[in-house]
Parts: sequence; structure tokens; C-alpha cells
Amino acid sequence: MAGETRGLTLVFTGNGKGKTTAALGMALRAWGQGLNVLILQFIKGGWKYGELKAAGRLGTGFEMRQLGEGFIRDTGEEGMEEHRRAAQKALEEARRAVLEGKHDMVILDEINYAVHYGLVDLADVLEIIRSKPSRLHLVLTGRNAAQEVVEAADLVTEMREVKHPFAAGIPAQKGIEY
Ligand code: ATP
Ligand code: MG
Repeated sequence: MAGETRGLTLVFTGNGKGKTTAALGMALRAWGQGLNVLILQFIKGGWKYGELKAAGRLGTGFEMRQLGEGFIRDTGEEGMEEHRRAAQKALEEARRAVLEGKHDMVILDEINYAVHYGLVDLADVLEIIRSKPSRLHLVLTGRNAAQEVVEAADLVTEMREVKHPFAAGIPAQKGIEY
């Protein structure tokens, strides 16, 4: 499988469970191939202790940074301002990481959600996609991906909820949810 690396833009969206874990699976696959992977989290709560522990054990070439401000609740305008500041910082970091060219795969976890909530501008996200080095794989996760992001991507998968244990009152399970 020779040839030049063709960096792809991948999007995992939809209401069903599996967006962040799909990105993490891809990250593991890439890391196993010796690729340098960076995962930036835009909204805390999107990924949990399990993957953070794993990242710590995998060591070099598999890095995760939590940049969000916690779950978005009905916090009022003041609370939203906090979220916005954190998301803007995360966006800056994403822009730097993408342009820097040190990584082979950059995952922007829950960035679609951040756009949906108006924490970051869609135009800024589109600019990051446009300006990425041609060999970089860029992964964007989160519900409600904007149509423009979908159009800019090479691969888009929409998770659709068929069944979720939450609906049957089953609480979050270690290794499944966190
Ligand atoms: P995962 O991290 O398990 O891949 P996700 O990234 O697809 O999930 P998010 O939208 O980021 O899901 O939601 C975060 C949390 O909400 C996760 O703990 C997830 O299990 C849970 N969740 C996802 N989809 C549903 C659903 N349809 N009903 C109830 N809870 C859900
Ligand atoms: Mg998620």
C-alpha cells in the first residue's frame, strides 16, 4: 500500500451512541501504525476516565487534552460565557495543532456540538478544515454536524439510535460509558 498519504476529513455525528468511541477506535488504529495522534476535547464529559487512563498508558504518540468547561446545562448567559471562553481556547489550540504539522491525526471531539451551541463559529471550523496539511487526517465528532461541515468532509457517518439502555433505566456502565 505505497503512495502518498491522502489526509481525510472524517465526521461522526447523529443521536446514537458511538461517535467519540468511533474516533477513539480510529485513533488506536492509527497509533498502532505508528502515527502521531492528538485528541482535543471541546466539551468535557464527552469522553471519560477510561480513555484518559488508556492515553496515559499508551504514552508517546497518543495524546489527549481536555479543554472544555463541563456539561452544558441551563446555566444562563454567564455560564455560557464560560463555555464560550473555553471553547475559543480549544479552537485556538486546534488551529495551532493542525497548522503545526506535528501530528498525523487530530481529533476534535464534540466540536460539532460546540458549533451547534454557538460556542465556536462555523466559519472558523471550516477554515481549519480548509487549511489542514494535505497529509493530516482530521476527525470531527458530535451531534448536529453543520451541513457545511458535512459537505467539506470526505467521510461522514451518522450514528442512529435504535436502542439505548438509558431508556430502560440502566445507568452508565464502566467500560461502556466511562
Ligand atoms: P460514546 O462516547 O459512548 O461514543 P457519543 O460520543 O456518541 O458516545 P455523546 O453525544 O458524546 O455520545 O454523548 C455523551 C454521553 O451520552 C455518552 O456517555 C453516551 O453513552 C451517552 N449517550 C449517547 N447517545 C445516547 C442516547 N441515544 N441516549 C442516552 N445516552 C446517550
Ligand atoms: Mg461524544
